[in-house]
Amino acid sequence: MGFDFDHTLGIDNNLERVAFLRLLAELCAGGGEPLGTLASEIDRIDALLRLQRSGRYSIEEAVERFARERGARDPGAYPERYKHLALHSAEAFVVPVPGLSRALAALRSHGVAVAVLTNGWSPLQERKAALAGFEGPVVVSAAIGVQKPAKGAFEALARTLARAPDEVWYVGDDPVMDVAGAIAAGMHGIWLDARGSEYPADLPAPERIIHNLEELAGALPIARQE
Ligand SMILES: [Mg+2]
Repeated sequence: MGFDFDHTLGIDNNLERVAFLRLLAELCAGGGEPLGTLASEIDRIDALLRLQRSGRYSIEEAVERFARERGARDPGAYPERYKHLALHSAEAFVVPVPGLSRALAALRSHGVAVAVLTNGWSPLQERKAALAGFEGPVVVSAAIGVQKPAKGAFEALARTLARAPDEVWYVGDDPVMDVAGAIAAGMHGIWLDARGSEYPADLPAPERIIHNLEELAGALPIARQE
């Protein structure tokens, strides 16, 4: 069983946006300049984070670029500072989704192997998973060099679980990144639809739809055999 992390097992309350804003404050204290209003800087940070999660930039490249564009004297010094800010605020920001510990306990009682496959950088994603109470392996895109929804990311998950792709069920909140990605890699896709949204008609349909993690064990073939 594989899991997405963000908005599936836990939320991080924009902790990376806040880490960038703290970095911006430090940068300005050191002689740098913001590119615009606070609101426009937030938009730029969010766009930069999306590019980083899509694999366009490593976190180091994203932070260095951010610092250079704002006139930092030593842009190369900022990635380490950024990672420190993000990792040290994680404990205050990360919240597990309701029902996570019960859902994991139910899977454990059936002997189901679990792992997370998440886009982002290491070690932040591992730290977030641990803070949410997830104890299994965490496969992070930056560490394996490939992002969801690429097949290679799901293949890395299957290797971690020591299962063939068609034996793996993958659950996530994002129809494209999680559900369609898993199905294209030969896995069974489960869509976590916490908001009561419409599933995109142009994507391969999930095999199961759940609305919270409490429904997960009952949606799997293992539970139905009992
Ligand atoms: Mg997600």
